[in-house]
Amino acid sequence: MIFLVDKTEIIMKKLLTILIGLTATGLLLIGQTNEKSSKGFVMDKVVKSDKEWETCLTPQEFQILREKGTERAFTGEYYNHKEDGTYICAGCENELFSSNTKYDSGSGWPAFFDALDETKVKIKRDLSYGMVRTEIICAKCDSHLGHVFEDGPKPTGLRYCVNSLALDFVPIK
Ligand code: FE
Repeated sequence: MIFLVDKTEIIMKKLLTILIGLTATGLLLIGQTNEKSSKGFVMDKVVKSDKEWETCLTPQEFQILREKGTERAFTGEYYNHKEDGTYICAGCENELFSSNTKYDSGSGWPAFFDALDETKVKIKRDLSYGMVRTEIICAKCDSHLGHVFEDGPKPTGLRYCVNSLALDFVPIK
């Protein structure tokens, strides 16, 4: 009888451990901010308050990325930049554009005819300033990057017009 009680106790303890484990896993999953795209790709999101963004961005970067600003044409670091490499989000380092798709649009902002892949950026209709435009947003941290227009070169016919301040550059080693 004593043996049976001990065994029951052991089983109960094991069940309790499993239950605690499952609960913890469930809580972790609820707390995650992953976003699943239509292709099943899971993007780890970066979510910060304005206060947190202010501490990790320069005031100029904050104005572009978090307040949807636009830098003055021909003033940015990358509009005439021709090195080979990858342009990443200045807010979260998400890889956004390859130098292979960069071209000179003559607009005074860095221009790309495609994103690195479709999971990297999101687009959103933007009706501000009395214009109908399509905003480009970083898919990882939801920062404003620029706008995409349908007057780009082949093969996409798109012009991703991006603020230099929204980008950092990683050269090919
Ligand atoms: Fe980002």
